[in-house]
Amino acid sequence: MNERKPMAELKAVDWDLIVVGGGITGAGIVREAARRGCKVLLVEQADFAWGTSSRSSKMVHGGLRYIAAGDIRLTWHSLVERERLLREAPGLVTRLGYWFAHYDKTFPGPWVFGLLLSVYDLLARVRDHRYVARAKFLEQMPGYREQGLRGGSRYTDALVDDARLVLRVLEEAMGAGVCVRNYTRVEAPLLHAGEVVGARLRDVESGETVELSCRTLINATGAWADRLRSTITTSKRVRPLRGSHLVLASERLPVREATIFMHPKDGRAVFIYPWQGRTIIGTTDLDHQQDLDEEAHISRAELDYLLSAANHEFPAAALVEADVIATFSGVRPIVSSGRGLHPSQEKRDHSVFVEQGMITVTGGKLTTFRQIALDVLRAAAPRLGIVVRDRGEAVFAPAPADRLGARFGRAARQIEALPAEEQALRSGLDYSLAEMRWSLRHEQVVHLDDLLLRRTRIGLLYRQGGSEFLALIAPLCRQELGWSEERWQAEVERYQRIWQRSYALPA
Ligand SMILES: Cc1cc2nc3c(=O)[nH]c(=O)nc-3n(C[C@H](O)[C@H](O)[C@H](O)COP(=O)(O)OP(=O)(O)OC[C@H]3O[C@@H](n4cnc5c(N)ncnc54)[C@H](O)[C@@H]3O)c2cc1C
Repeated sequence: MNERKPMAELKAVDWDLIVVGGGITGAGIVREAARRGCKVLLVEQADFAWGTSSRSSKMVHGGLRYIAAGDIRLTWHSLVERERLLREAPGLVTRLGYWFAHYDKTFPGPWVFGLLLSVYDLLARVRDHRYVARAKFLEQMPGYREQGLRGGSRYTDALVDDARLVLRVLEEAMGAGVCVRNYTRVEAPLLHAGEVVGARLRDVESGETVELSCRTLINATGAWADRLRSTITTSKRVRPLRGSHLVLASERLPVREATIFMHPKDGRAVFIYPWQGRTIIGTTDLDHQQDLDEEAHISRAELDYLLSAANHEFPAAALVEADVIATFSGVRPIVSSGRGLHPSQEKRDHSVFVEQGMITVTGGKLTTFRQIALDVLRAAAPRLGIVVRDRGEAVFAPAPADRLGARFGRAARQIEALPAEEQALRSGLDYSLAEMRWSLRHEQVVHLDDLLLRRTRIGLLYRQGGSEFLALIAPLCRQELGWSEERWQAEVERYQRIWQRSYALPA
C-alpha cells in the first residue's frame, strides 16, 4: 500500500473521481474506476474499513432469507459474487457448511427447506445441499437441542476476514494507480452553479485542509451518507440499523460448521459459526440511535438476546457472560422504505442516486461490492466519459492461497523475505511479527487500533483485546513508526479506551 501522500500533493492532480469512504463500497468503486483509466482518489475519515466493513458478520453469502423474502435478484447477484470470490481469493474467502435443524411440527420442514436450497444452489450453479437424519446431525453438531429433533439440512456459504477484504481490494486498486488516504475527512462538497465540482478535505490528524476539484464526487459513506448529503439536500434516505455479535472461545461452544436458527423470542434468524479459531454468535437488528462518530457497541439487551439464543440451541453449553472474549457491532446503511417497517423487513439491496452531480451509494452487502461498484460507475459514466460494461474481469490478481497470501495477496512473498526469526507464530498469537511489520511499514497504520482491530483482528480474537501481546508489538511500532515511549503509552490508552467502549461486554 502506498504512503499517505501529503495533503498539498493532492492538489497537483486533476482528479476524475474522488470517492469518500474507505469501506468495501468505496474500495470496490476505486478498483473498477482505475481499470477504466480514471485518476482516482479515495479518502476515509478514520481508518480503512473502520466503519461497517470491519464489523459485519463476515459472511460472503447469497442470503437464504432474501430468497424467502422474495428478493431473488439480490440472492442471485450475491451467489454469483460468492462463487467468484471463492475462486479469486482462496484462503481469504472460504467455503463453510451451514446447518439448519428440523424439529417436529415446526416450519420449514426438511422438504420445504430442501426446495429452498435447491433454488439457492441453482442460482449459484452448484450442487451443495443435503438432509441428514437426527443421529448424523448430532454427530456434526454435538450438544444441539435434542427434544423433538428430526434431523438437519446442510448447505454451504462462505466466510471472510472483512477488513482484510477491504485492504486487499484497495491494494489491487493502488496497483492500478489509485491514491488512497486514511484519516482524511471530506467536510463538504464544493459547488459551482449548483453542481458539485469538488470537495473540501481535512486531515483529521493535523487539521490541515485542502480544496480539490474533480469531475465526479462519490459519496460511499455508508451509514454516514445522509451527513454528506445534508450539505446539498434536506431529505434523509438512510435508516441506520445496528447488528451486534459475540466472540467466544471455541472450547466453550465448539462448532465445526455454522448453524442458522430462529430466535425463540422473536423468530429472527441467528447464526453461530466458527471464525478464525473462535465461535461467533450474531446478529441483532435494531435502530441505531447513538452517535455515528463513535464505534457502535453492543447493549446489555443485545448481549442477553444472543446468549439466550445460543443457550436455547445448545442447552448443555450453559454460556454465561464470562465466556465472551469480545463483542463487535456494525451499523447497516439501510435505505429506508419510510414505511416504518420492522428493521428486519427493510430491504438489504443498495441504492444509487445523483443529486446536484454528487453520486451517493448506500445499502447493499459486503458480498456484492463489485456489482455495486459497477452500478455506481454507470451513474458516473456520462461525467467521466467512460463506458461501463461488466466483462467479469477478476478483482484480484492470482495470489497464494496460504495464510499470508489470503491476507496480503501478492505482497505475501515480500513478507516472507523479511527476517526468518520474525516469520514464526509465537505465544499463541496467530499473526507473525513479519506480517505486523509489513502492515506498519506499508498499510498506512496511523494508530495502534488500526493494527490491532483491522490490519490484524487481535482485538476481536483475544481476551482484553490482546493486551498480553502489547509488549511484543511495542518495539515494532517504535522501529517502523518512530513512536516515542510517550506516544506508545498514548496509543495504548487510546486503544484500550476504544476496546472497552466498543469491543468489550457492555458496561
Ligand atoms: C451487523 C452487520 C452484519 C453484516 N453482515 C454482512 C455479511 O455477513 N455479509 C455481507 O455481505 N454483508 C454484511 N453486512 C453488510 C455490509 O457489512 C455493509 O453493507 C458494508 O460493509 C457497507 O460498506 P460501506 O463501504 O458502504 O460502508 P462502511 O464500511 O461503513 O464505510 C463507510 C466509510 O465512510 C467513512 N466516512 C463517513 N463519512 C466520511 C467523510 N465525510 N469523509 C471521509 N470518510 C467518511 C466512514 O468512516 C466509513 O469507514 C452486514 C452489516 C451489518 C451492520
